[in-house]
Amino acid sequence: MVRELTSVIEARFSAPLLRFVREAGGLAAQRGERLYLVGGIVRDLLMGLPAPDVDLVLEGDVGSFVGALREARLGAPLSHSQFETAKLEVEGKTVDIARARTETYSHPSALPQVAPSTLEADLLRRDFSINALAASVLSEDFGRVVDVCDGLEDLEKKQVRALHEKSFQDDATRILRAVRLEQRLGFLLEERTQEWLVRDASYLDTISGDRLRHELERLWQEQAPELTLSRLDDLHVLPALYPALAWDRALAASFARARLGTPSDLSLSAVYLALLGCRILQSQAEGLIARLNLPQGETRAVRDAARLDAVLRDIVERQPSPAAFVEELEEFSPEALWAWALTAPAETAVRLRRLVRDLRHLRPALRGTDLMELGVPPGPAVGEYLRRLRAALLDGQARTLEEERQLVLRWLATGKGV
Ligand code: ATP
Repeated sequence: MVRELTSVIEARFSAPLLRFVREAGGLAAQRGERLYLVGGIVRDLLMGLPAPDVDLVLEGDVGSFVGALREARLGAPLSHSQFETAKLEVEGKTVDIARARTETYSHPSALPQVAPSTLEADLLRRDFSINALAASVLSEDFGRVVDVCDGLEDLEKKQVRALHEKSFQDDATRILRAVRLEQRLGFLLEERTQEWLVRDASYLDTISGDRLRHELERLWQEQAPELTLSRLDDLHVLPALYPALAWDRALAASFARARLGTPSDLSLSAVYLALLGCRILQSQAEGLIARLNLPQGETRAVRDAARLDAVLRDIVERQPSPAAFVEELEEFSPEALWAWALTAPAETAVRLRRLVRDLRHLRPALRGTDLMELGVPPGPAVGEYLRRLRAALLDGQARTLEEERQLVLRWLATGKGV
């Protein structure tokens, strides 16, 4: 494995980003400080993957360094926190700068005690060896890889290795991070790492709802989140996430289908969550919502997905008209309906797909004013005619504007509109 990334950085970074890191490195050197690319970006550059957002670690004071960057007109500062981190924008890329630090945990999942440190110590606090790699951006050794945890060897072996035995106890979000990374990269958990991960799965209980949800949000961004969920299930770790969660190959296939066909006005993350909701009882769905402290839209998706199980059974038995089918179901979250469209038996699935894709958007071409011109009395009757007209459209009784007009005139003549 290469130990030097100069040509890769030169090839992969845009010209403005390359100029920024080189000049920022020069500035750090002038100030007697050291500056490094670190974490996922180094891993991905070494693997020849597209470079994600840029993380830099500084041995020095971030506040004053960002001030110096500003004076030199390098990057546009977006934010700067009291915790010695700053965010900048360089030609559309986000660049994070953090002070090199150590983190020590007084007990599992405690907030770590943070202290300034060297780059090498900062690398040792990280989650996995392949994420504990850095590359210098100082002019004297630009591109030199710093590898104090044998991350290069693990990249070659294609394995995700935790840095020490208590890693998952210190921070159980690493359980999800490990499997997500393993599946994304097509790696394997190193043998002892896997043992520790399985042994310490119950430490997920120590993670707050917000942090757990944040990890899941990152999972939903993956190309194939079902790979991670399948792997967690194989490792018997899924119940530690939430005891009622059920998983099988059919659900994994529904995840894959969700990604391919979900209408663009729906949230794919909410559809994924709703798919999990399809398989659990309403009381369990409430527990999951509380555990993850879900926001409103996702709460509705999970809650409705669980409720729809019984509702759909009942509807299918009654064989309602297309209009009744839509009217009864459109109060439910579209993401929950879509999740059922991906999992229900064929005939129901087809009807649900049409409902979510088209029918819930269907409105009569005639407006309220048109109806009044045709003779509908102003007031509540207008709304009622519009509702009836929509039902007629859904049942296929009118397809064109003219057919809508004829229908309304007929209703007015026979008094059947309301
Ligand atoms: P991704 O490609 O998913 O963004 P990343 O490796 O860049 O992966 P981030 O979550 O952005 O992941 O974190 C940046 C770096 O911070 C990681 O590479 C890792 O070194 C470190 N890190 C992140 N989370 C943890 C954690 N829970 N424990 C220890 N180190 C962590």
